[in-house]
Amino acid sequence: KQYTPDDIREMVSKEDVRFLRLMFTDLLGTAKNVEVPISQLDQLLAGKLMFDGSSIDGFVRIEESDMYLKPDLSTWMVFPWGDEHGKVARLTCSVYTSDGEKFVGDPRNNLIRVLKEMKDLGFSDFNIGPEPEFFLFELDENGNPTEKLNDKGSYFDLAPMDLAANVRRDMVLELEKMGFNVEASHHEVAPGQHEIDFEYDNAVVAADHIQTFKMVVKTVARRYGLYATFMPKPLNGVNGSGMHMNMSLFDKDGNNAFYDENGEGGLSQTAYYFLGGILKHAQALTAICNPTVNSYKRLVPGFEAPVYIAWSGANRSPMVRVPIARGKGTRLELRSVDPSANPYLAIAAILEAGLDGIRNKIEPDEPIDRNIYRMDGKELKLDHIKKLPATLHNALLDLQEDSVMEDALGSHIYQNFLDAKNMEWTAYSQNVSQWERERYLDML
Ligand code: GLU
Ligand code: MG
Ligand code: MG
Repeated sequence: KQYTPDDIREMVSKEDVRFLRLMFTDLLGTAKNVEVPISQLDQLLAGKLMFDGSSIDGFVRIEESDMYLKPDLSTWMVFPWGDEHGKVARLTCSVYTSDGEKFVGDPRNNLIRVLKEMKDLGFSDFNIGPEPEFFLFELDENGNPTEKLNDKGSYFDLAPMDLAANVRRDMVLELEKMGFNVEASHHEVAPGQHEIDFEYDNAVVAADHIQTFKMVVKTVARRYGLYATFMPKPLNGVNGSGMHMNMSLFDKDGNNAFYDENGEGGLSQTAYYFLGGILKHAQALTAICNPTVNSYKRLVPGFEAPVYIAWSGANRSPMVRVPIARGKGTRLELRSVDPSANPYLAIAAILEAGLDGIRNKIEPDEPIDRNIYRMDGKELKLDHIKKLPATLHNALLDLQEDSVMEDALGSHIYQNFLDAKNMEWTAYSQNVSQWERERYLDML
């Protein structure tokens, strides 16, 4: 809802809000909070609230660290867990430089910029429905996460196996109090693994939701002595956690531009071009949608995560699936994304790849409706099926070569992202692991 400053003042006094939590997101996708007492409200509404941006990952250099937070009033939300000190409300903010310009290094500003390109092409909305998965581990007596799972349940199991059902129900209730429309919540395939799906929304709201979602899930888990982790592959030998992204473009008349009742398979030419763009940029896109060293331990055969760059109507092994719904619900499901991705950057990159497909009329290859995991090397070659990058390092090399992905992030974010992630890779590749000692120490 679009609130005016006066609406905000009214809600503050009606609800007795004492603190404002101002949210924005850094380069790596970490939600940042600046909490200010309500006495700062006028400063904030006037767009004059300053903070020091120099300590934020991927932001600015020391000499130009003064930045402003300007609130997006439509993101007003009162947290349901206020205490005796009064209620806390959140506002998601845009970061501005000291010259009053929108800061190009703010991932949310960047997504809004890419959405403007989409609008120039004649579309009104890019809708995203995310499916975040996570694990629950027990906390030790010092409040640190252990590697002990809290249950032994599996996919769609019912109590008493699914001991986490109460935790999950509490998470859903808190989310609903915060205005989320939760569509489903269930145990996932691995022990201790869960999924909560909420209704699709336009790209910026969906990304804001993902950030709030993670915070709520972690907060509720702690109440039960548990730690919720969005690490893509926390355990060996079982499924990792993905964050599948369901997506569709809507046109100016509010119609789903991916749907065409006379199109092949009920999909429009626009949908095919968008898909073509995603497949074309799949490798570089992976660096942004799967941005950690650990992400690539999930993208291996046998655990319902994609390994190959292909699409299908039904099969779950390819990178893109087209769920059965048509009409308004027509959508593509990108299954490679994991929850370690910065949602603002991931969505901007996916959109830019799709728009590149539309602009340049990129046709996707034929769908693969067999189980790709079971295809041998020869079959894969015959079908020209390419693999997703196998490591962060390879993905970064692809990102370095892809100018459309540079457009998607803007050069400030693109360069800072590459620098930060190359450093992460170097640190990892120079670390001697337990696995290596176990494998080589007494053998060599
Ligand atoms: N956990 C799987 C993944 O890594 C996905 C399972 C599912 O299809 O929901 O993507
Ligand atoms: Mg799932
Ligand atoms: Mg899914």
